[in-house]
Amino acid sequence: MIERVNRNLKKIRCYHTINNLEIILKNANDNDLSYLSFLDNLLKTECDLRSQRKISLYIRQAKLPSIKSFDEFDLTYQHSVTKRQINEWKTFSWLDKRENKILMGPPGVGKTHLAIAAAYEAIQNGYTALFYSMNDLIDDMVIANHQGNFPQFLKTLLKKDLLVIDEMGFLPLKPEHSSLFFQLINEFYEFRSIILTSNKLFNEWGSTFGDQVIATAILDRLLHHAEPVVMAGDSYRMKGKIN
Ligand code: ADP
Ligand code: MG
Repeated sequence: MIERVNRNLKKIRCYHTINNLEIILKNANDNDLSYLSFLDNLLKTECDLRSQRKISLYIRQAKLPSIKSFDEFDLTYQHSVTKRQINEWKTFSWLDKRENKILMGPPGVGKTHLAIAAAYEAIQNGYTALFYSMNDLIDDMVIANHQGNFPQFLKTLLKKDLLVIDEMGFLPLKPEHSSLFFQLINEFYEFRSIILTSNKLFNEWGSTFGDQVIATAILDRLLHHAEPVVMAGDSYRMKGKIN
């Protein structure tokens, strides 16, 4: 009978149940479980393991440079962000509302940490995300554009609930880059969320994009439904090293 059960489980693709059937059966026998409790254990194992698998797949696909969480973020060191703010972020209602977050500040204040934590924890909550450094994003957009695949490239990005764009502003952009970036922001506007980190404040965006008109158009869309966070303080990398 066990062979037939395994064969049928395979037919309906319940592989986690196949792998755990022996343990679940033994547990039911040893504890005199009711038929309903047995079935409940069986289904719970299959469903839990399936969602764990999906989450690890989404985390791999998000291409996060490292794993960071909100709990690891020391709010006693970084005072520009509050516990209340982080708790609001953790509800992910801003993702449902397609809102953006713009994290600005000097190096080491935790912009990338918070951006990764938001993406990582969003995935744990059933959303999808993709992490890009601004430089890699520009490179990939230029390649796609030269190959005539830019619309398809945008389409794949737009499948994610959240796009993290890290370190905007380190290098000034050429007009072609700014124009591609504007198209991306325009497609995401009110449709998907973006977290953007930058060492530049808004008044410096004109020089980054090499064009005040395009910078204004980008800012206009990004900021319409957004939470700008200006982060100040000493670099966390220097923690304990500054006397
Ligand atoms: P930024 O992107 O602003 O340059 P990062 O987020 O890369 O800074 O932070 C640099 C390092 O310091 C990372 O390893 C990050 O995890 C850590 N870090 C920064 N701020 C905090 C903080 N408030 N609490 C804990 N770790 C922090
Ligand atoms: Mg950073």
